[in-house]
Amino acid sequence: MSEHDDELDEEFPLGNGTVETEATVLCPYCGEINEIALDPGSGRQQEYVEDCQVCCRPWRLVVTYLPDGTADVSVEADDLR
Ligand SMILES: [Zn+2]
Repeated sequence: MSEHDDELDEEFPLGNGTVETEATVLCPYCGEINEIALDPGSGRQQEYVEDCQVCCRPWRLVVTYLPDGTADVSVEADDLR
């Protein structure tokens, strides 16, 4: 369910050393801080599920890369269906 894949190839500072490749997020379940690896090669806007490293429950992660290479990461619980 990706939305705008046509914008992925705009100028994106891959290789400049300015793209964030990890982030720190707070687990919405257990409240523990997790350091997660990001994959800039997957596009500027990413949404995927990752398990908490502490309590193993699934988060829905939304990663948005800003033009300067900063990653805006939000995480929410994935079992509220
Ligand atoms: Zn957790």
